[in-house]
Amino acid sequence: MALVPCKECGTLNSSDAEICLSCEYPIRGRSKTNWLKWVAIILALMLGLPVVLATIDIAKTGLQPQSSQPTGR
Ligand SMILES: [Zn+2]
Repeated sequence: MALVPCKECGTLNSSDAEICLSCEYPIRGRSKTNWLKWVAIILALMLGLPVVLATIDIAKTGLQPQSSQPTGR
């Protein structure tokens, strides 16, 4: 078991470790967590978009003048 410095932050990690304990950068091989990160971002956008659209919709309906009540006599 040897200690290898992280390429990203320089923290010494066990050569058995797959990712840096400090910054979670993959010590060896290709990044396995990278695509997971993107999936998480895309999922967050997909989940967040309807909320944003609903908020805009509510804001629009809130700003609309109440035409059901005619003004004047
Ligand atoms: Zn690191």
